[in-house]
Amino acid sequence: MRTIGVLGGMSWESTQSYYRALNEGVNEALGGFHSASIVMESLDFAEIETLQRAGDWDEAGKVLADAAMRIERAGAGCLVLATNTMHKVAPAIEAAIDIPLLHIADATAEQCRQQGIQRVGLLGTRFTMEQEFYRARLEQRYGIDVVIPDDAERESVHRIIFEELCRGEIHQASRERYLEIIEGLQARGAEAVILGCTEIALLVEQTHTRVPLFDTTALHAAKAVAWSLEGSNKP
Ligand code: GLU
Repeated sequence: MRTIGVLGGMSWESTQSYYRALNEGVNEALGGFHSASIVMESLDFAEIETLQRAGDWDEAGKVLADAAMRIERAGAGCLVLATNTMHKVAPAIEAAIDIPLLHIADATAEQCRQQGIQRVGLLGTRFTMEQEFYRARLEQRYGIDVVIPDDAERESVHRIIFEELCRGEIHQASRERYLEIIEGLQARGAEAVILGCTEIALLVEQTHTRVPLFDTTALHAAKAVAWSLEGSNKP
């Protein structure tokens, strides 16, 4: 088994999901008392959220790259950045470390491909839904067509992430709003919907809708588990 590096805290509500999924995934494969070998750094989300709102992605990239280097020095063999949004600064992180970054959009796109999905809906923060860094990766590297909610819907999706999910608040009214938006994406031709924010699965689960959902947290963690089990740490 190889050691997985996790850069979390964005927010810690979803980092908990990663920690559980990584340990459960390894235990499912190896049984007994086995659990994942993990090095984790969890950042103060207030600092990151302020930089996001200010649009200071360069500074955010530096903060995350520094943390990634510490994770590498602590012995991790790969890096899992436990947020979709902050993959905006993935190039800055990758430039700072020698270990591979397991990109969350790759984990998701591979699953879309496996299931033969050609057109997919995308929910996430405004940054993830509206900017190029995530959608372009799905479209250009994997040839998957991406549909996003309309402006008012994007506003709701984004607001619920920051005002509720990242603070550990789960409300039925917000779940219903998400489900309405998910169905709207299906009506516009999406064959499945990507929960492209690591907190969304805390609110919406596959049991709530017939529209196939791709939970990026679960897919990303599964990719990291598979990577970990492919080899062993160098002596
Ligand atoms: N965890 C979220 C994501 O996956 C949102 C929080 C953030 O902006 O980093 O995008």
